[in-house]
Amino acid sequence: MTLTLVPPAPVLPTPVRPDPLGVLGVPGEINLDHAASAPCARAAADAVAELLPWYASVHRGAGALSRRCTLAYERARQSVADFVGARPDDHVIFTRNTTDAVNLLARALPAGTTVVTFGGEHHANLLPWPRGSVRLPVPDSPAGAVRSLAAALGELARDARPGLPVLVAVTGASNVTGECWPVAELARVAHRHGARILVDAAQLAPHAPVDLTALDVDYLAFSGHKLYAPFGAGVLAGRADWLDAAPPYLAGGGATSHVGAATHEVRWATGPARHEAGTPNLLGAVALAAVCEALTAADRSALHAREQALLARLRSGLAALPDVVELRTFGPEAPRVGIVSFVVAGRDSAEVAAHLAARHRIGVRDGLFCAHPLTRRLLSEAATRSARTDLPATALRASLGLGTTAPEVDTLLTALATLP
Ligand code: PLP
Repeated sequence: MTLTLVPPAPVLPTPVRPDPLGVLGVPGEINLDHAASAPCARAAADAVAELLPWYASVHRGAGALSRRCTLAYERARQSVADFVGARPDDHVIFTRNTTDAVNLLARALPAGTTVVTFGGEHHANLLPWPRGSVRLPVPDSPAGAVRSLAAALGELARDARPGLPVLVAVTGASNVTGECWPVAELARVAHRHGARILVDAAQLAPHAPVDLTALDVDYLAFSGHKLYAPFGAGVLAGRADWLDAAPPYLAGGGATSHVGAATHEVRWATGPARHEAGTPNLLGAVALAAVCEALTAADRSALHAREQALLARLRSGLAALPDVVELRTFGPEAPRVGIVSFVVAGRDSAEVAAHLAARHRIGVRDGLFCAHPLTRRLLSEAATRSARTDLPATALRASLGLGTTAPEVDTLLTALATLP
């Protein structure tokens, strides 16, 4: 008898599909503007297509269509709750987007609340807060952010508003630089001083797990359209008590448990319904939830590793271009998601963006990115750091997504290297 020795099969790492969400796109168009809005995921498109024939009102009818839609809407809420690691008594409220979610929380603050933010926030997390809010200077490192917050909260507790509620509102990842803020540390500092914390996760959620419980964060806000779902659905998730005690964000049908004949005789609902008056965006919620489920099932550390490799390729390519200067708040090694803003010295950013679109079919963003104070400041720091006097007054931003490929990044780099 002859024995054939078959060598054992090599143990290969499980292959990771580069894009487990099957993000849709247009052949030939290089979309490097995911931070503005990410293209729709196949999971979201399928979920909408499946529900479309059942199209009916939520929470308002006894018919089979309406009941199925109500079930789908509440299931969507549960999927989002799982995605954000909601605690059992947290609320998950469907909003239109992050801006809407932050405005909702701003209207739900208990009387006398002081809100503390940093000057580096997106306008959505700067402008909704009441007068008297504290805006801390943009720190130059994550550790500096933690120190600055601790000092400010210590001062508030001691001198300014002892005993009154404080809410810290910070970004998870900057829409300008992609830099990640030390959310868990900031949450620890906030809680040590009896404050609560909201994380604006508009840019963090598409790139990294956002978990209320793991991060010990009180509130999270994010947008479906940046998370590979269509426009019009966002989320505010977090502690129920302020939300249940606040006046409804919108007054109207669905937000009430009883309305009497006399003017103003109304009992408002508690729970998410209190802030979701009017017929809700069922398809938006279901699409968003489908992406949440797909991301929850995906190997996020593999996705992260892939994105970081593309980001490193982009940043080192940009660094090799003599006229390109990157914008950054922290040091060059600070952790960041796949977003890079930069300028080309001597070039108007809007003209560069128009050229990339017209000649190379590359979509990037130009401007001040709805974070005017931060972007202006980073432009001025970039001028100092690079000792260039010919930097433009606005910037360019390239942002990566699940469907982005290395050849797309290289096409951008080549296009920048060969600007006419
Ligand atoms: N927060 C951050 C960090 C953002 O990047 C954005 C949008 O770019 C927003 C909030 C506002 O999001 P939306 O326009 O979806 O309300």
